[in-house]
Amino acid sequence: MSMMKGYAMLKIGETGWIEKERPTCGPNDAIIRPLALSPCTSDVHTVWEGALGDRHNMILGHEGCGEVVEVGSAVKDFKPGDRIMVAAITPDWMSLAAQDGYPMHSGGMLGGWKFSNFKDGVFGEYFHVNDADGNLAHLPDSISTAEACMLSDMIPTGFHGVELAEVSFGDNVLVIGIGPVGLMAVAGADLAGASNIICVGTRPVCVEAAKGYGGTHFVNYKDGPIDQQVLELTNGQGVDKIIIAGGDNDTFEEAVKCLRPGGKIGNVNYLGSGDYIKIPRIEWGVGMGHKRINGGLMPGGRLRLEKLARLIEVGKLDVKPMLTHRFEGFEHVEDALMLMKDKPRDLIKPVVVIEE
Ligand code: NDP
Ligand code: ZN
Repeated sequence: MSMMKGYAMLKIGETGWIEKERPTCGPNDAIIRPLALSPCTSDVHTVWEGALGDRHNMILGHEGCGEVVEVGSAVKDFKPGDRIMVAAITPDWMSLAAQDGYPMHSGGMLGGWKFSNFKDGVFGEYFHVNDADGNLAHLPDSISTAEACMLSDMIPTGFHGVELAEVSFGDNVLVIGIGPVGLMAVAGADLAGASNIICVGTRPVCVEAAKGYGGTHFVNYKDGPIDQQVLELTNGQGVDKIIIAGGDNDTFEEAVKCLRPGGKIGNVNYLGSGDYIKIPRIEWGVGMGHKRINGGLMPGGRLRLEKLARLIEVGKLDVKPMLTHRFEGFEHVEDALMLMKDKPRDLIKPVVVIEE
């Protein structure tokens, strides 16, 4: 059995390099060698907040692209040597959940989230992808390996927030949290036809990027409750749609308070701790305000990857402003993850490039 190196969660609060057996390839699967990788705030929740419970010697990471090194006998559209993109969520496409329109919940709630949750993630010298024909997509020549990493999670998750909030033409939209996920929610809301886009966040580098993606107004959550500031900006009316991509369990209270009746909240924030979220009774229309809250894990899958990649190919979406920190070489995965943990104020997203 050949061995490989990977950067892993050793237990809650502890990470390190480990040696592990190379993954094996089933008939529908593929084995991938990473070409570029990126750590995620979710990796930080998983390791340092223990948000998923304890995991031992589990290789981290779910954002990356790579080169196919092996495919199973039933895989039709990919072969060794192909350069591929892959989403963070890799559902079982034959499952009933997928047939029901919820591929991300195949195999149980959040079951499509396999990398660095139920199996080793992508921060290994090799990683395994189930349902290769459904979960891989060919990497277009015009998209760099660093940019492709943003198609694994940041773009599809930020855009899913927009889908969950059902943003439509002319909507006044509030995006709470403008880290990389929120920035992609701003870009997605803009593409979906939002008019005003109010952005909540403090890091100047994120505020600048948000302006480029279509943000029109800015709120600092450290200056007081978000709802009060948003109500002031909207003459007491509130906004039509809200995407939550940052904050904590109490953020829902602020969101409901500044959402118009009939408005919709799409949450993609990963709630790392605590037991309950609070919904304010009065502002939720004493239970009858038609204020919908929808939280969801992004769907994943090849078609979605191909379509979102097309936005980059035709020039409608540019992820380069998000790539603030770049490392060269697989061994820097550790540095990139630590950067994500420490979140220096000039950071949006670090990327580790193994091959251009
Ligand atoms: P970041 O930490 O980079 O960004 C968080 C944003 O929220 C920042 O703009 C931050 O502001 C802001 N913020 C922090 N505290 C508050 C507060 N109390 N009220 C309002 N805003 C606040 O995170 P990412 O963009 O990388 O990720 C965002 C979330 O999405 C994470 O929880 C992540 O785990 C989750 N996620 C979910 C996925 C899914 O599939 N559903 C996939 C990937 C990520 P500041 O400028 O001050 O830092
Ligand atoms: Zn992620």
